[in-house]
Amino acid sequence: MSGPKSIIRHETWTIQPDREPDAKPVTHQMKCDVCGDQSGEDGSWEPPQTWVLNHSGQNPSHHSYTEVISRPWRTFMHT
Ligand SMILES: [Zn+2]
Repeated sequence: MSGPKSIIRHETWTIQPDREPDAKPVTHQMKCDVCGDQSGEDGSWEPPQTWVLNHSGQNPSHHSYTEVISRPWRTFMHT
């Protein structure tokens, strides 16, 4: 599990959020915890939150939601 190899790997590789121009966009999505229905993915948090308000309006007993954020990361090796 945590032998010398894993230590070497940890010192050699670094991980960070991918902010390169060709990186996948960060997206936000809302999911209803009651029925599992979900909004579309969007680069802004506003459309998913608007979806939540509309969903609660149509389903007045659905009060719990989970935000799903997709964020690209990349690794690179130290030289
Ligand atoms: Zn729902």
